[in-house]
Amino acid sequence: TQRTLVLIKPDAVRRGLVGNVLGRFESKGLTVVALEQRLIDGEQADRHYAEHVERDFYPPLRAFVTSGPLVALVLEGDEAIEVVRAINGATDGRKAAPGTIRGDLSVSNRENLVHGSDSPESAAREIALWFPDL
Ligand code: ATP
Repeated sequence: TQRTLVLIKPDAVRRGLVGNVLGRFESKGLTVVALEQRLIDGEQADRHYAEHVERDFYPPLRAFVTSGPLVALVLEGDEAIEVVRAINGATDGRKAAPGTIRGDLSVSNRENLVHGSDSPESAAREIALWFPDL
């Protein structure tokens, strides 16, 4: 079994899609290990997106993820990292396959509703960052 860090981003909270998004993970059979709604500051955004802080797309991404509350959670299950990324779909909502969260609910490359850790190393780092008591 494996754990992964998921963010239900501010666009999803604003649009009232938290239940829809969370329901997809729960229906799939993943277990919620921790869950909290938070309003984060730019420094937490920088720590989370450490690998992207120098990229051109980062300043608007930073503004977006700090623009309102998000929901951070840890999910557990068999191959949870890959399973969550498959449920999330491709980064760009316009390209993401129907049936995925982004494919069904987003038409944006930035406001794409969710984040999921991309490797066991990222999951360990991100879980420690968001939920240090776990
Ligand atoms: P996440 O890491 O959030 O699950 P991802 O792994 O699909 O998404 P990354 O390449 O890690 O995508 O990018 C992180 C986030 O940065 C994306 O989810 C998206 O919100 C934003 N992003 C990535 N590329 C772009 C871009 N070209 N333009 C605008 N925003 C972008």
